[in-house]
Amino acid sequence: MDNVKASQAAAIQGDPRWSAVVSRAAEADGSFVYAVKTTGVYCRPSCGSRRARPENVAFFATPVEAEHAGFRACRRCQPDQMLAPAARQSARIVELCRLIETAEHIPSLAELAAQSGLSPYHLHREFKRVTGLTPRAYATAHRAKRIRRELQRSNRVTDAIYEAGYASNGRFYAESDAVLGMTPAAFRRGGPGTEIRFAVGRCSLGAILVARSERGICAILLGDDPQALVDDLQAHFPAARLVAGDADFDSLVAQVVGFVEAPATGLDLPLDIRGTAFQQRVWQALQKIPPGERISYTELAQRIGAPAAVRAVAGACAANALAVAIPCHRVVRNDGGLAGYRWGIERKRSLLERETEGR
Ligand SMILES: [Zn+2]
Repeated sequence: MDNVKASQAAAIQGDPRWSAVVSRAAEADGSFVYAVKTTGVYCRPSCGSRRARPENVAFFATPVEAEHAGFRACRRCQPDQMLAPAARQSARIVELCRLIETAEHIPSLAELAAQSGLSPYHLHREFKRVTGLTPRAYATAHRAKRIRRELQRSNRVTDAIYEAGYASNGRFYAESDAVLGMTPAAFRRGGPGTEIRFAVGRCSLGAILVARSERGICAILLGDDPQALVDDLQAHFPAARLVAGDADFDSLVAQVVGFVEAPATGLDLPLDIRGTAFQQRVWQALQKIPPGERISYTELAQRIGAPAAVRAVAGACAANALAVAIPCHRVVRNDGGLAGYRWGIERKRSLLERETEGR
């Protein structure tokens, strides 16, 4: 077992809830549930199903939290039955939300009603009570969010449309104006008038460029040549207007430099992370790897539930524009070798050495 898995297993084994799971303690039922990442299922502590490996386990205080995290109730021990009727109803609606998010087409009210076992009228009312939106409005809002995200990174507008869950172009174009307020192509170019502020500074790893959009830090680039970093930024945001940061911006750069020098301190600034749905999944998983830990591309692929996608995972790491904040430097080869790094193998080595020393 490698280090990452071993430390995950140790963390779970040190949790008192784990001994309740091991002994299948019925008296612990109701105080928490445990989920198994490899199966996507969550159980009561007393469940008689095969024991999970500790490194694959996560604990949740309530079934609702487990459902929110994307797990579904075990058919055998039915942990969702522990919920009060109102909470069970909410959990059922949350399940419908997941269904809407992943469905090829927007499910009709009748389909959702059949799925939930409620009458269409009842479902409509309950859905609105839990989410504040009708099922139809929820589906449209979710697709709008995805299409915005996809358009910012996809090479082709049509790719973005399919990735966002639209079955056809025509359907999307019919809705796009309402969703984006402009044509998809215009939006993808960064939108006319998108402004990105940036500044180049120095850190112990060389030159560092920090850029911020109106939504948050959108790039942290490392290199030797400041001009090359600016060119890289422009290539990343081709239609955006790049504006040199003012004196106020310097304190932001100082904050980011402080973070790059000591990642364990954390970066308390909003990030503007732009990528395809797949890249976002990889980057989110990367952000969960603490300083000092390393993970292989294979494990990272497993962790996002796409064990066969090792090459695509490596591609997503290489496309990361937020050095250190999305810690792609913590990904190494299966044999522990450093593999590549967008900002140079020597920088990767220094970052890893420093993090290991700091432990
Ligand atoms: Zn179970």
